Amino acid sequence: MLKPILASADLRAMPKVELHCHLELALRQNTLREFAQKNDIDVSTDAAFAQAFLIQEPMGELKSVLHKFLNTRDVILKEEWMERVAFEACEDMYLQSNVRILELRYAPSFLLDHHKHMDAYRLQKAIISGVERAEEKYPIAVGLICILQRTKSVEENEIWVDFALKPQHQFVALDLADNEVDFDPEPFIPLFKKAKDAGLGITVHAGEPNVPGISRNIRTAIEKMGADRIGHGLQAIEDPEVIALLIDRGIPLELCPTSNWLTGACSSIATHPFKALFEAGVKTTVNTDDPGIMCTNLLNEYALLTTECGIDLATLEACNAWALEASFIPTTKKESAWNQRLRP
Ligand SMILES: [Zn+2]
Repeated sequence: MLKPILASADLRAMPKVELHCHLELALRQNTLREFAQKNDIDVSTDAAFAQAFLIQEPMGELKSVLHKFLNTRDVILKEEWMERVAFEACEDMYLQSNVRILELRYAPSFLLDHHKHMDAYRLQKAIISGVERAEEKYPIAVGLICILQRTKSVEENEIWVDFALKPQHQFVALDLADNEVDFDPEPFIPLFKKAKDAGLGITVHAGEPNVPGISRNIRTAIEKMGADRIGHGLQAIEDPEVIALLIDRGIPLELCPTSNWLTGACSSIATHPFKALFEAGVKTTVNTDDPGIMCTNLLNEYALLTTECGIDLATLEACNAWALEASFIPTTKKESAWNQRLRP
């Protein structure tokens, strides 16, 4: 169900870094279909499956896209299923796109919201187990990011910060996600300060939707929340001062071209500000966001940038180098996977 990939051999061979991928939306489509069937959802035809779960055309606004995410979340019935989801997400990244450094993020509160029977500790254990199985099988280094939801209270989110800080949970960073138009980041500043002081990396979804003035959230993330990276941030293009801030601090943007188009953040891939931001001097990186339900993979994103935006191979290599440097995975672990990159 993936779009045809017109990727050159050079693009395929390039070892890649993926920094922004939501684990619970990166389900392999066959697995998602199997889970749907176990929930007695009719996915007997491709059309029925696509209608229920996939986002293949722009849906108008981010809020409707977020709503569609719920359908996928709802069919994940058991913690143990996430072991398979995590393993397959890593496997697909390596086999389809030659990803060697991979950061996967998820919001425990998002899964537990619908599945009251689930236990966050068992969930995390299952995910770690799937990731470790993939790391044993493939030359790939994987890090996990814990997401806080803007739509939740500060009190509830503090529980998840403490959860993320437990060493046995192996998180490398904290993120803030969800509807940034109706929920400001300011209330969560103390939580991000706590996480940063305790040594977690910080990335924040900010400046994503095409809403005038939204780039203010990028400034808040950098100046008040200690963001080391920005999730999306493509609306920085609206404000030269925000662009200057990103350049001055050397903060990379985790751009996700297909997702940005499907959520309406930009009107097409061809009009994505990726190239303009790169040429302005911003550290742009290439990512998938929600590869399972948005029918893409990292190689496809690279190919789209070359064909739709005229981005050349040298630019993509520069983006990859920034992504490698900006990954929150410990340096020795990163280097070990990266240095195996010539292994077939
Ligand atoms: Zn995201």
